[in-house]
Amino acid sequence: MAEFRKIEPDLSFIKGVMEAGGDTVNRCYQCATCSVICPLSTDESPFPRKEMLWAQWGMAPRIAGDADVWLCHQCGDCTAYCPRGARPGDVLGAIRANAIRYYAKPKAMADMMGNAGGVIGTVIASMFIVLIVAFFWSQYTGEAFPFPEGKVVYHKFLSVVPIDAMYLSLAAFVGLVSIKGIMDFWADVSKGSGMVSYTGTGPRPALGALLGKYLWPAIVEILSHARFKKCGQTLERARGHLWVLWAFLILFFVTNYVFIAADIFGMHTPMPQYHPVKILANIGAIMLIGGIWMIRTMRSQKTKEGVLKSSSQDWILIWLIFAVGITGIGSELFRLIGIKGLAYPTYVLHLGCVATLFLALPYSKFAHLLYRSTAYVYQLWDKDVRAGKAGFGLEKPVVPVTPEEG
Ligand code: SF4
Ligand code: SF4
Repeated sequence: MAEFRKIEPDLSFIKGVMEAGGDTVNRCYQCATCSVICPLSTDESPFPRKEMLWAQWGMAPRIAGDADVWLCHQCGDCTAYCPRGARPGDVLGAIRANAIRYYAKPKAMADMMGNAGGVIGTVIASMFIVLIVAFFWSQYTGEAFPFPEGKVVYHKFLSVVPIDAMYLSLAAFVGLVSIKGIMDFWADVSKGSGMVSYTGTGPRPALGALLGKYLWPAIVEILSHARFKKCGQTLERARGHLWVLWAFLILFFVTNYVFIAADIFGMHTPMPQYHPVKILANIGAIMLIGGIWMIRTMRSQKTKEGVLKSSSQDWILIWLIFAVGITGIGSELFRLIGIKGLAYPTYVLHLGCVATLFLALPYSKFAHLLYRSTAYVYQLWDKDVRAGKAGFGLEKPVVPVTPEEG
Protein backbone atom coordinates (compact mmCIF):
# COMPACT_ATOMS: atom_id res chain seq x y z
CA MET A 1 0.00 0.00 0.00
CA ALA A 2 1.28 3.43 -0.88
CA GLU A 3 2.62 5.42 2.03
CA PHE A 4 1.48 9.03 2.33
CA ARG A 5 3.53 11.58 4.15
CA LYS A 6 2.14 14.93 5.14
CA ILE A 7 4.55 17.73 4.33
CA GLU A 8 4.51 20.71 6.64
CA PRO A 9 6.12 23.51 4.67
CA ASP A 10 8.52 25.72 6.59
CA LEU A 11 7.28 29.09 5.36
CA SER A 12 10.10 31.03 7.00
CA PHE A 13 12.58 28.87 5.06
CA ILE A 14 10.82 29.61 1.74
CA LYS A 15 10.77 33.33 2.62
CA GLY A 16 14.48 33.24 3.52
CA VAL A 17 15.40 31.57 0.21
CA MET A 18 13.31 34.08 -1.77
CA GLU A 19 14.81 37.03 0.07
CA ALA A 20 18.36 35.76 -0.46
CA GLY A 21 17.98 35.81 -4.26
CA GLY A 22 15.90 32.66 -4.88
CA ASP A 23 12.65 34.53 -5.63
CA THR A 24 12.22 32.61 -8.92
CA VAL A 25 11.94 29.21 -7.20
CA ASN A 26 8.18 28.91 -7.69
CA ARG A 27 8.48 29.11 -11.46
CA CYS A 28 10.00 25.62 -11.60
CA TYR A 29 7.71 22.97 -13.15
CA GLN A 30 10.09 20.06 -12.64
CA CYS A 31 11.15 19.41 -16.22
CA ALA A 32 14.64 18.33 -15.02
CA THR A 33 16.50 20.12 -17.81
CA CYS A 34 18.75 21.67 -15.15
CA SER A 35 19.83 18.29 -13.74
CA VAL A 36 20.68 17.10 -17.24
CA ILE A 37 22.61 20.25 -18.12
CA CYS A 38 24.56 20.62 -14.86
CA PRO A 39 28.17 19.56 -15.50
CA LEU A 40 28.66 18.70 -11.83
CA SER A 41 25.51 16.67 -11.25
CA THR A 42 26.03 12.93 -10.70
CA ASP A 43 24.05 9.88 -11.85
CA GLU A 44 23.74 8.66 -8.24
CA SER A 45 22.28 11.90 -6.98
CA PRO A 46 21.35 14.37 -9.71
CA PHE A 47 20.74 18.01 -8.85
CA PRO A 48 19.37 20.75 -8.83
CA ARG A 49 15.81 19.68 -9.81
CA LYS A 50 15.11 17.91 -6.52
CA GLU A 51 16.39 20.91 -4.53
CA MET A 52 14.01 23.17 -6.47
CA LEU A 53 11.10 20.96 -5.43
CA TRP A 54 12.19 20.77 -1.80
CA ALA A 55 12.66 24.53 -1.67
CA GLN A 56 9.21 25.14 -3.20
CA TRP A 57 7.67 22.86 -0.59
CA GLY A 58 9.61 24.46 2.25
CA MET A 59 11.31 21.17 3.19
CA ALA A 60 14.03 22.80 5.27
CA PRO A 61 15.31 19.64 7.05
CA ARG A 62 15.48 17.75 3.72
CA ILE A 63 17.57 20.53 2.20
CA ALA A 64 19.78 20.74 5.30
CA GLY A 65 20.50 17.04 4.83
CA ASP A 66 21.49 17.42 1.20
CA ALA A 67 25.21 17.64 0.46
CA ASP A 68 24.48 18.25 -3.24
CA VAL A 69 23.53 21.86 -2.49
CA TRP A 70 27.22 22.44 -1.80
CA LEU A 71 28.51 20.68 -4.89
CA CYS A 72 27.05 23.48 -7.02
CA HIS A 73 29.43 26.32 -7.95
CA GLN A 74 26.71 28.67 -9.18
CA CYS A 75 28.13 28.57 -12.68
CA GLY A 76 24.75 29.44 -14.17
CA ASP A 77 24.81 26.72 -16.85
CA CYS A 78 21.45 25.37 -15.65
CA THR A 79 19.98 28.87 -15.35
CA ALA A 80 20.83 29.57 -18.99
CA TYR A 81 18.81 26.54 -20.13
CA CYS A 82 15.88 26.60 -17.68
CA PRO A 83 12.77 26.98 -19.86
CA ARG A 84 10.83 28.64 -17.03
CA GLY A 85 13.36 31.22 -15.93
CA ALA A 86 13.41 29.60 -12.47
CA ARG A 87 17.14 30.31 -12.17
CA PRO A 88 18.11 27.10 -10.30
CA GLY A 89 21.76 28.17 -9.93
CA ASP A 90 20.70 31.29 -8.04
CA VAL A 91 18.15 29.37 -5.96
CA LEU A 92 20.90 27.00 -4.82
CA GLY A 93 23.07 30.03 -4.00
CA ALA A 94 20.22 31.41 -1.86
CA ILE A 95 19.79 28.03 -0.16
CA ARG A 96 23.50 27.99 0.69
CA ALA A 97 23.28 31.52 2.12
CA ASN A 98 20.45 30.33 4.37
CA ALA A 99 22.39 27.21 5.35
CA ILE A 100 25.39 29.29 6.44
CA ARG A 101 23.13 31.27 8.77
CA TYR A 102 21.47 28.03 9.93
CA TYR A 103 24.83 26.55 11.07
CA ALA A 104 26.25 29.81 12.44
CA LYS A 105 26.53 30.13 16.21
CA PRO A 106 25.58 32.70 17.39
CA LYS A 107 23.29 33.70 14.52
CA ALA A 108 23.63 37.39 15.39
CA MET A 109 27.21 37.15 14.11
CA ALA A 110 25.96 35.83 10.75
CA ASP A 111 23.46 38.69 10.58
CA MET A 112 26.23 41.17 11.32
CA MET A 113 28.65 39.71 8.77
CA GLY A 114 25.89 39.46 6.18
CA ASN A 115 25.52 43.19 5.61
CA ALA A 116 27.95 45.89 4.55
CA GLY A 117 27.30 48.04 7.66
CA GLY A 118 28.12 45.13 9.97
CA VAL A 119 31.33 44.30 8.10
CA ILE A 120 32.51 47.92 8.03
CA GLY A 121 31.65 48.19 11.74
CA THR A 122 33.70 45.05 12.42
CA VAL A 123 36.68 46.47 10.52
CA ILE A 124 36.46 49.73 12.52
CA ALA A 125 36.07 47.87 15.84
CA SER A 126 39.06 45.65 14.98
CA MET A 127 41.17 48.71 14.12
CA PHE A 128 40.15 50.26 17.42
CA ILE A 129 41.29 47.15 19.31
CA VAL A 130 44.59 47.15 17.39
CA LEU A 131 45.13 50.82 18.34
CA ILE A 132 44.40 50.14 22.02
CA VAL A 133 46.84 47.22 22.07
CA ALA A 134 49.43 49.30 20.18
CA PHE A 135 49.01 52.11 22.71
CA PHE A 136 49.73 49.79 25.64
CA TRP A 137 52.61 48.28 23.66
CA SER A 138 54.09 51.76 23.22
CA GLN A 139 53.84 52.27 27.02
CA TYR A 140 55.81 49.06 27.46
CA THR A 141 58.49 49.79 24.83
CA GLY A 142 58.70 53.55 25.31
CA GLU A 143 58.14 54.18 21.57
CA ALA A 144 56.16 57.23 20.46
CA PHE A 145 52.47 56.53 19.70
CA PRO A 146 50.95 56.33 17.09
CA PHE A 147 54.02 57.18 14.98
CA PRO A 148 57.25 55.69 16.38
CA GLU A 149 60.41 57.71 15.83
CA GLY A 150 62.73 56.96 12.90
CA LYS A 151 62.11 54.84 9.84
CA VAL A 152 58.80 53.05 9.35
CA VAL A 153 59.16 49.74 11.20
CA TYR A 154 55.88 48.08 12.08
CA HIS A 155 57.19 46.00 14.96
CA LYS A 156 58.05 49.26 16.78
CA PHE A 157 54.34 50.13 16.54
CA LEU A 158 53.16 46.62 17.41
CA SER A 159 55.47 43.64 17.65
CA VAL A 160 54.55 40.20 16.38
CA VAL A 161 53.99 38.99 19.96
CA PRO A 162 50.81 41.03 20.71
CA ILE A 163 49.67 40.62 17.09
CA ASP A 164 49.97 36.85 17.34
CA ALA A 165 48.22 36.87 20.72
CA MET A 166 45.27 38.74 19.19
CA TYR A 167 45.04 36.68 16.02
CA LEU A 168 45.61 33.32 17.67
CA SER A 169 42.72 34.01 20.07
CA LEU A 170 40.55 35.00 17.13
CA ALA A 171 41.65 31.92 15.17
CA ALA A 172 40.81 29.67 18.14
CA PHE A 173 37.29 31.14 18.37
CA VAL A 174 36.73 30.91 14.60
CA GLY A 175 38.13 27.36 14.58
CA LEU A 176 35.72 26.18 17.29
CA VAL A 177 32.69 27.77 15.61
CA SER A 178 33.75 26.28 12.26
CA ILE A 179 34.22 22.78 13.68
CA LYS A 180 30.80 22.95 15.34
CA GLY A 181 29.22 24.04 12.04
CA ILE A 182 30.93 21.23 10.11
CA MET A 183 29.87 18.60 12.66
CA ASP A 184 26.25 19.78 12.60
CA PHE A 185 26.32 19.76 8.80
CA TRP A 186 27.80 16.26 8.74
CA ALA A 187 25.11 14.99 11.11
CA ASP A 188 22.40 16.53 8.91
CA VAL A 189 23.69 15.09 5.65
CA SER A 190 24.11 11.68 7.31
CA LYS A 191 20.47 11.80 8.35
CA GLY A 192 19.57 13.03 4.87
CA SER A 193 21.15 9.91 3.37
CA GLY A 194 19.17 7.73 5.75
CA MET A 195 22.19 6.57 7.76
CA VAL A 196 21.68 5.63 11.39
CA SER A 197 24.68 4.74 13.53
CA TYR A 198 24.83 2.52 16.62
CA THR A 199 24.85 5.61 18.77
CA GLY A 200 22.00 7.24 16.92
CA THR A 201 24.23 10.10 15.85
CA GLY A 202 25.55 10.80 12.38
CA PRO A 203 28.13 8.12 11.51
CA ARG A 204 31.67 9.00 10.51
CA PRO A 205 34.48 7.11 8.88
CA ALA A 206 37.39 5.96 11.05
CA LEU A 207 40.08 8.64 11.35
CA GLY A 208 42.61 6.85 9.13
CA ALA A 209 40.07 6.31 6.36
CA LEU A 210 38.76 9.85 6.75
CA LEU A 211 42.21 11.32 6.23
CA GLY A 212 43.63 8.98 3.60
CA LYS A 213 40.67 7.76 1.64
CA TYR A 214 38.30 10.71 1.67
CA LEU A 215 39.93 13.94 2.88
CA TRP A 216 43.11 13.70 0.82
CA PRO A 217 41.38 13.08 -2.58
CA ALA A 218 38.95 15.91 -1.73
CA ILE A 219 41.86 18.25 -0.96
CA VAL A 220 43.61 17.31 -4.23
CA GLU A 221 40.42 18.07 -6.13
CA ILE A 222 39.93 21.38 -4.35
CA LEU A 223 43.55 22.43 -4.97
CA SER A 224 43.19 21.80 -8.69
CA HIS A 225 39.58 23.07 -8.93
CA ALA A 226 39.00 20.13 -11.29
CA ARG A 227 35.25 20.28 -10.70
CA PHE A 228 34.84 24.05 -10.89
CA LYS A 229 36.67 24.04 -14.24
CA LYS A 230 33.89 21.93 -15.77
CA CYS A 231 31.48 24.85 -15.45
CA GLY A 232 30.96 26.41 -18.86
CA GLN A 233 29.39 29.83 -18.28
CA THR A 234 31.79 31.12 -15.65
CA LEU A 235 35.11 29.43 -16.36
CA GLU A 236 37.03 32.65 -15.73
CA ARG A 237 35.60 32.73 -12.22
CA ALA A 238 37.10 29.30 -11.58
CA ARG A 239 40.53 30.62 -12.58
CA GLY A 240 40.23 33.62 -10.26
CA HIS A 241 38.93 31.36 -7.49
CA LEU A 242 41.97 29.12 -7.91
CA TRP A 243 44.33 32.08 -7.68
CA VAL A 244 42.64 33.27 -4.50
CA LEU A 245 42.78 29.80 -2.97
CA TRP A 246 46.51 29.41 -3.68
CA ALA A 247 47.15 32.97 -2.49
CA PHE A 248 45.53 32.13 0.85
CA LEU A 249 47.62 28.99 1.13
CA ILE A 250 50.83 30.91 0.38
CA LEU A 251 49.95 33.68 2.84
CA PHE A 252 49.02 31.10 5.46
CA PHE A 253 52.45 29.51 5.07
CA VAL A 254 54.21 32.90 5.21
CA THR A 255 52.28 33.98 8.32
CA ASN A 256 53.15 30.77 10.11
CA TYR A 257 56.77 31.01 9.04
CA VAL A 258 57.01 34.52 10.49
CA PHE A 259 55.17 33.39 13.62
CA ILE A 260 57.65 30.56 14.25
CA ALA A 261 60.79 32.36 13.06
CA ALA A 262 60.11 35.67 14.79
CA ASP A 263 58.17 34.67 17.92
CA ILE A 264 60.04 31.48 18.74
CA PHE A 265 63.48 31.91 17.17
CA GLY A 266 63.70 35.71 17.45
CA MET A 267 64.15 36.42 13.71
CA HIS A 268 64.49 40.11 12.94
CA THR A 269 61.54 41.62 11.04
CA PRO A 270 60.85 42.97 8.49
CA MET A 271 62.57 40.42 6.29
CA PRO A 272 64.67 41.86 3.45
CA GLN A 273 62.92 42.08 0.10
CA TYR A 274 65.20 39.39 -1.38
CA HIS A 275 64.35 36.83 1.34
CA PRO A 276 62.62 33.87 -0.37
CA VAL A 277 59.72 33.99 2.10
CA LYS A 278 59.30 37.72 1.48
CA ILE A 279 59.25 37.09 -2.27
CA LEU A 280 56.66 34.37 -1.70
CA ALA A 281 54.59 36.75 0.44
CA ASN A 282 54.58 39.34 -2.35
CA ILE A 283 53.61 36.72 -4.93
CA GLY A 284 50.78 35.62 -2.63
CA ALA A 285 49.53 39.21 -2.21
CA ILE A 286 49.61 39.85 -5.97
CA MET A 287 47.79 36.56 -6.64
CA LEU A 288 45.17 37.50 -4.04
CA ILE A 289 44.48 40.87 -5.65
CA GLY A 290 44.66 39.50 -9.21
CA GLY A 291 42.42 36.51 -8.42
CA ILE A 292 39.76 38.47 -6.58
CA TRP A 293 39.76 41.06 -9.37
CA MET A 294 39.13 38.27 -11.92
CA ILE A 295 36.23 37.02 -9.79
CA ARG A 296 34.83 40.56 -9.44
CA THR A 297 35.06 41.23 -13.17
CA MET A 298 33.51 37.92 -14.16
CA ARG A 299 30.71 38.20 -11.58
CA SER A 300 29.94 41.72 -12.65
CA GLN A 301 29.88 40.78 -16.34
CA LYS A 302 27.80 37.63 -15.85
CA THR A 303 25.38 39.49 -13.57
CA LYS A 304 24.86 42.08 -16.33
CA GLU A 305 24.34 39.28 -18.88
CA GLY A 306 21.74 37.69 -16.57
CA VAL A 307 23.68 34.43 -16.16
CA LEU A 308 24.10 35.00 -12.40
CA LYS A 309 22.39 36.96 -9.71
CA SER A 310 24.79 38.50 -7.23
CA SER A 311 23.71 39.18 -3.67
CA SER A 312 25.18 41.77 -1.33
CA GLN A 313 26.94 38.88 0.44
CA ASP A 314 28.79 38.01 -2.77
CA TRP A 315 30.06 41.57 -3.14
CA ILE A 316 30.88 42.01 0.56
CA LEU A 317 33.22 39.01 0.51
CA ILE A 318 34.85 40.08 -2.76
CA TRP A 319 35.53 43.61 -1.51
CA LEU A 320 36.70 42.40 1.89
CA ILE A 321 39.28 40.07 0.30
CA PHE A 322 40.30 42.86 -2.06
CA ALA A 323 40.72 45.21 0.91
CA VAL A 324 42.96 42.67 2.68
CA GLY A 325 45.19 42.38 -0.40
CA ILE A 326 45.37 46.05 -1.30
CA THR A 327 46.03 47.25 2.28
CA GLY A 328 48.72 44.56 2.64
CA ILE A 329 50.53 45.73 -0.49
CA GLY A 330 49.85 49.38 0.45
CA SER A 331 51.37 49.08 3.89
CA GLU A 332 54.48 47.45 2.41
CA LEU A 333 54.87 50.11 -0.29
CA PHE A 334 54.33 53.03 2.12
CA ARG A 335 56.88 51.46 4.47
CA LEU A 336 59.45 51.10 1.71
CA ILE A 337 58.89 54.65 0.47
CA GLY A 338 58.93 55.85 4.07
CA ILE A 339 55.61 57.77 4.19
CA LYS A 340 54.91 57.43 7.89
CA GLY A 341 51.55 59.24 7.84
CA LEU A 342 50.17 56.73 5.34
CA ALA A 343 52.12 53.62 6.32
CA TYR A 344 50.88 53.23 9.93
CA PRO A 345 47.18 54.01 9.20
CA THR A 346 47.23 51.60 6.23
CA TYR A 347 48.85 48.96 8.42
CA VAL A 348 46.14 49.36 11.08
CA LEU A 349 43.46 49.19 8.38
CA HIS A 350 45.12 46.02 7.04
CA LEU A 351 45.09 44.38 10.47
CA GLY A 352 41.42 45.37 10.87
CA CYS A 353 40.51 43.86 7.47
CA VAL A 354 42.43 40.65 8.22
CA ALA A 355 40.65 40.24 11.57
CA THR A 356 37.28 40.79 9.88
CA LEU A 357 38.10 38.22 7.19
CA PHE A 358 38.96 35.73 9.95
CA LEU A 359 35.58 36.38 11.56
CA ALA A 360 33.84 36.10 8.20
CA LEU A 361 34.95 32.48 7.79
CA PRO A 362 32.09 30.73 9.61
CA TYR A 363 29.57 33.59 9.35
CA SER A 364 29.53 34.80 5.75
CA LYS A 365 29.65 33.47 2.22
CA PHE A 366 33.28 32.63 3.04
CA ALA A 367 31.86 29.61 4.92
CA HIS A 368 31.41 27.85 1.57
CA LEU A 369 35.06 26.92 2.06
CA LEU A 370 34.03 24.83 5.09
CA TYR A 371 30.79 23.30 3.86
CA ARG A 372 31.75 22.66 0.24
CA SER A 373 34.97 20.95 1.33
CA THR A 374 32.96 18.84 3.80
CA ALA A 375 30.46 18.01 1.06
CA TYR A 376 33.30 16.80 -1.19
CA VAL A 377 34.55 14.51 1.59
CA TYR A 378 31.03 13.36 2.36
CA GLN A 379 30.28 12.59 -1.27
CA LEU A 380 33.29 10.25 -1.53
CA TRP A 381 32.38 8.52 1.70
CA ASP A 382 28.69 8.24 0.86
CA LYS A 383 29.62 6.57 -2.43
CA ASP A 384 31.58 3.91 -0.53
CA VAL A 385 28.77 3.47 1.98
CA ARG A 386 26.27 2.87 -0.80
CA ALA A 387 28.64 0.40 -2.43
CA GLY A 388 29.11 -1.41 0.91
CA LYS A 389 32.81 -0.52 1.05
CA ALA A 390 32.79 1.92 3.94
CA GLY A 391 33.87 -0.62 6.52
CA PHE A 392 31.74 0.32 9.49
CA GLY A 393 28.57 -1.02 11.02
CA LEU A 394 25.19 0.61 10.79
CA GLU A 395 22.10 -0.25 12.79
CA LYS A 396 20.15 -0.15 9.58
CA PRO A 397 21.33 -0.44 6.02
CA VAL A 398 21.67 2.81 4.23
CA VAL A 399 18.35 3.90 2.81
CA PRO A 400 19.11 5.18 -0.67
CA VAL A 401 17.51 8.36 -1.93
CA THR A 402 14.32 7.28 -3.68
CA PRO A 403 14.35 7.61 -7.47
CA GLU A 404 11.60 10.21 -7.50
CA GLU A 405 13.77 12.45 -5.36
CA GLY A 406 16.68 12.17 -7.77
S1 SF4 B 1 14.53 24.73 -12.48
FE1 SF4 B 1 13.95 25.02 -14.62
S2 SF4 B 1 15.08 23.45 -15.73
FE2 SF4 B 1 15.12 22.87 -13.56
S3 SF4 B 1 13.38 21.48 -13.30
FE3 SF4 B 1 12.68 23.54 -12.80
S4 SF4 B 1 11.81 24.34 -14.68
FE4 SF4 B 1 13.07 22.61 -15.27
S1 SF4 C 1 24.72 26.57 -11.23
FE1 SF4 C 1 26.10 25.21 -12.37
S2 SF4 C 1 26.88 23.81 -10.81
FE2 SF4 C 1 25.10 24.80 -9.94
S3 SF4 C 1 23.40 23.42 -10.36
FE3 SF4 C 1 23.48 24.91 -12.02
S4 SF4 C 1 24.72 23.98 -13.63
FE4 SF4 C 1 25.08 22.84 -11.73
